[in-house]
Amino acid sequence: MPGLDHETREMVLDTLKKYAHDKLPPEYLIQLDHDDEFPTQVLQELYDPQHLGLHLVFIPEEYGGLGGSAYDIYRVSELMASIDLGIATGVLATFLGTDPITVGATPEQKKYWMSKIADEALLVAYGATEPQAGSDLGTLSSKAVPVTENGHVTGKAVPVTENGHVTGYKLTGRKQWISNGGVAQLYTFLANAPGGPSWFIVERDAPGFEKGKQEDKHGIRASNTAALFLEDVYVDADRLVGMVEGQGLAQAQAVFGYTRLMVGAFGLGAGWEALRRAIRYSQERVQGGATLDKKQGYTHKLIVPNAARLEAARSYIEWVAERLDGGEEGLQTEGAVAKYTATEAGNQAAEDAIQALGGYGYVKEYMVE
Ligand SMILES: Cc1cc2nc3c(=O)[nH]c(=O)nc-3n(C[C@H](O)[C@H](O)[C@H](O)COP(=O)(O)OP(=O)(O)OC[C@H]3O[C@@H](n4cnc5c(N)ncnc54)[C@H](O)[C@@H]3O)c2cc1C
Repeated sequence: MPGLDHETREMVLDTLKKYAHDKLPPEYLIQLDHDDEFPTQVLQELYDPQHLGLHLVFIPEEYGGLGGSAYDIYRVSELMASIDLGIATGVLATFLGTDPITVGATPEQKKYWMSKIADEALLVAYGATEPQAGSDLGTLSSKAVPVTENGHVTGKAVPVTENGHVTGYKLTGRKQWISNGGVAQLYTFLANAPGGPSWFIVERDAPGFEKGKQEDKHGIRASNTAALFLEDVYVDADRLVGMVEGQGLAQAQAVFGYTRLMVGAFGLGAGWEALRRAIRYSQERVQGGATLDKKQGYTHKLIVPNAARLEAARSYIEWVAERLDGGEEGLQTEGAVAKYTATEAGNQAAEDAIQALGGYGYVKEYMVE
């Protein structure tokens, strides 16, 4: 089984818990949420190898990472989400942004980009969704136009692997709702090349590349979500992930089992955190002559079923993680089931926690709403 040994995993989780305890007190998290602020420094510290080096968990050892498994990533995602879903989303977005490289890049590209992400602790964003292409990604309209050796732009499909004619591409298009969109240093960008949808790697400061303002969201407000605007952004041909056009949608599909598992772990982490707060409240709050945790009408409605649902979802997540770590590929459906059951369970736990805390549950200070 790949992944971290027990001791290393526990060390990563303990260090993260300690960091959250020391640096992310409730007042600070509430303020970030209120101000709709992305905490750049926190993300830098989370990624800094001298602090935590959290991004190293998903990078293979051969490229300077820790080589975490799906199981490890689920554990880290769950803990991150229990601390703050917005900050967790910033971390997850780098995992997601790197996925096209993990799945589709050539060995040389992997070595170069994964090592760079590991060494320079880069924030990465995943640019797939467009204003007109959301659930139906196949209708995307961003374009990658090949540039030939003599400098002329052509629309002709030239398979890069079979001849050396394409020196680069000009990327044009708009992306919508991109996590880390305004703050990443590196982007994976899905665009239609002559050979079909393909992923490209784009650096933050490429000429012609603009980022939109941070969206004012309903939740996960400490994460940065922004639109991307590309106008004739030139990238060298070796920025085409896998060096073959037309693999983009298959590469996006290939990681869904894995990425949905991470989102499921978010539901688990956030749901359990809300439930823990409800349990603590019930152990202290006296109503009707006893603490609420002594009242079965309360515990059997608001606490116990949530614990059961969350733990059932955990079993499913762990089962999918084991299969992925055992070498099975895809598992998109299983990933979707994990995501659905865990996020539904998490949402229900959060809703019940609001009820469990009575009037206190309805105000931000108690951090369950
Ligand atoms: C906070 C946040 C962060 C995000 N981060 C990223 C990111 O980092 N990178 C990225 O690429 N994208 C990101 N997204 C985009 C996200 O993946 C899309 O929002 C999602 O794919 C849905 O697309 P859409 O918003 O266009 O909704 P639509 O496709 O318009 O869907 C609207 C509704 O219709 C339903 N629906 C759609 N098609 C059908 C159908 N055929 N039959 C029945 N019902 C249907 C959907 O389930 C949904 O309920 C993010 C979104 C949010 C909100």
